[in-house]
Amino acid sequence: RAEVGDDVFGEDPTVRRLEEMAAERMGKEAALFVASGTMANLVALLTHCGRGDEVIVGDQAHTFLSEVGGMAALGGIHPRPVPNQPDGTLRIEDLEAAIRPEDVHYPRTRLIALENTHNRCMGAPLTPDYMARVRALADRYGLKVHVDGARIFNAAVALGVPAAALARDADTVTFCLSKGLCAPVGSLVCGPADFIREARRVRKMVGGGMRQAGVLAAAGLVALETMVDRLAEDHRRARRLAEGLAEIPGVHVEAHRVRTNIVIFELDPRVPLDEAGFLQALQAHRVKLVGWGPRRFRAVTHYWIDDADIDHALRAIARVVGDALAGRTSG
Ligand SMILES: *Cc1c(COP(=O)(O)O)cnc(C)c1O
Repeated sequence: RAEVGDDVFGEDPTVRRLEEMAAERMGKEAALFVASGTMANLVALLTHCGRGDEVIVGDQAHTFLSEVGGMAALGGIHPRPVPNQPDGTLRIEDLEAAIRPEDVHYPRTRLIALENTHNRCMGAPLTPDYMARVRALADRYGLKVHVDGARIFNAAVALGVPAAALARDADTVTFCLSKGLCAPVGSLVCGPADFIREARRVRKMVGGGMRQAGVLAAAGLVALETMVDRLAEDHRRARRLAEGLAEIPGVHVEAHRVRTNIVIFELDPRVPLDEAGFLQALQAHRVKLVGWGPRRFRAVTHYWIDDADIDHALRAIARVVGDALAGRTSG
C-alpha cells in the first residue's frame, strides 16, 4: 500500500520518508536509499575519493574483502589495509603509521573506513569512545571517516546507546535494512546534505537510480520502526548458541566474545569432516551456516530464529560432530 512516485526525480514520498527517518536516526543531515550494502559503501567511497586516492581499511573489512574490489575497479581508489584487532578496531598507532606524508611517490590518504559491528571479528561493536579517538586522529590529518554500519543497530543495542552516538564522529555512515532489521532489500548512505547530493549523482552513475522504489522503502520503514529494539533477542540467542557450542566436544568457540548476533566457531582438527562435508550434513538437519575458512564457520541469529531453533541447531551440530568423531556417517 506504499504511496509511490519516481524517485529518480525525487518524487517518491515513501523513499523520502525513509531517507528522512534514516538521517534522523544517524544524527546526519541527509540520507540516500540504495539497493544494497555493497552499493552503499561503493557510492560513499566514490563520493569521498577520486582516482589514485587511498583509503585506510581493516584487513578483515567487508569493504576490503567482500565487495568485489569495487573501490579499485570502479573508482581507481587504492585500499591500504591495516590489521583488524579481535575487537574489530584498528589500532590508532597503526592508523597513524599508515597515513601518507606528502611525497611525489605516494597516493594521497583521504579516508579512514571502519566497520560496526565487525562481521569477521565475531560481530564486535565499536564504541563511541573508540570512534572519538579515530575522529581526533582524522582531524589532525584532515581525513574523513566512513563507517560501514551494515549492522550498526546491533552495535547500538549491544552497547545501550543510540545509533547516532556511534555515527557522531563519522562523516558518513551506511547501514543495511536487509540484515538484522529483516527488510527484504535496501541500505542507506547517511551524511552531510552536500555529500548526499553528490552521492545521489554517483548512485545514478552506478545504475542505482530506482523509479517507484517506495514499495521497497515501505518495508524499510517497518524495519526501522519495529525491528531495532528486538535485536537484543538475537544477541541473547547468539550468546546461548555459543555457550552451547562451547560444550560440544570437537567444537571451539570463544563464547565470551559474542556481543551481538554473530557466532564464529571452529572444528577441532581431529573431527574428520571437511567444510563441505560439515555444511552438507547440517543441511540435512535444516541448519544453515556459512563456511569461513577450512575449519571455521559463521552462524547468525535473526528475526526468524527462535529459542527452539537454537536448541535444534545445537542438537544437530552435536550429532554431526559426535558421529564424525565416532566414525559414523551422519544423516
Ligand atoms: C552484508 C554486509 C555488507 C554488504 O551488504 P549487501 O547488502 O550484502 O551488499 C557490507 N558490510 C558488511 C559488514 C556486511 O555484513
